[in-house]
Amino acid sequence: MIAVEIHRKSFGQSQVLGQLGFTLGQGEAVAVLGPSGVGKSTLLRIVAGIDRQFEGHVDRPERMGMVFQEPTLLPWRTALQNLTLVHRELPEAAARVALEKVGIGDKAELFPGQLSLGQQRRLSLARAFAGRPQLLVMDEPFVSLDPETAEGMMQLTERLIAEVRPAVLLVTHAREEATRLTGRILHLQGSPAVLRAEGKDHLRSVSP
Ligand code: ADP
Ligand code: MG
Repeated sequence: MIAVEIHRKSFGQSQVLGQLGFTLGQGEAVAVLGPSGVGKSTLLRIVAGIDRQFEGHVDRPERMGMVFQEPTLLPWRTALQNLTLVHRELPEAAARVALEKVGIGDKAELFPGQLSLGQQRRLSLARAFAGRPQLLVMDEPFVSLDPETAEGMMQLTERLIAEVRPAVLLVTHAREEATRLTGRILHLQGSPAVLRAEGKDHLRSVSP
């Protein structure tokens, strides 16, 4: 179970996040939707434990996988080493299977710079799932891809989620991605930003 409770998050004088919280059950997938600049990546970095400069508390599982907008690969290591150096307990044979699963099994000995952007994204997806994460956090993983590549990546992601069954936190500004990959949508909005569950507006408008 993942529990996020943030009281506030500021950069210097500027407060980005206000009071917000949510929980995620085992295998549950939630999307955080919001416009550019609202604080989505800031929230995700706090949940992932990358940013610890905030007021609040996060309970997260031990094994986590992350997929970012940029593939964030080690440029001087081969595709295979990008898996085995991050997941030190992962046998080489298992790493090769992980590369095959994302369709780049024949690229194991190539460096990230020798891969297309789409292949780099596949590699970062393989890396995120190779440790069999209990929580997968994704930050706009399909932006700036052509529609065909984005579709392929999304199908691959759906398949890997179905196989590994992590809890998923997907941060995006694209509604279609959110509804396709998750069962629950939260909106991040305002300044400082807070979360609103989808449909709440409607409920509020009909209550006295
Ligand atoms: P989103 O991911 O929703 O586009 P971000 O979380 O990246 O938004 O940014 C939210 C706000 O916080 C923006 O105004 C951004 O400029 C600011 N911000 C993000 N990271 C930093 C940082 N390291 N230092 C100062 N301001 C930051
Ligand atoms: Mg962002």
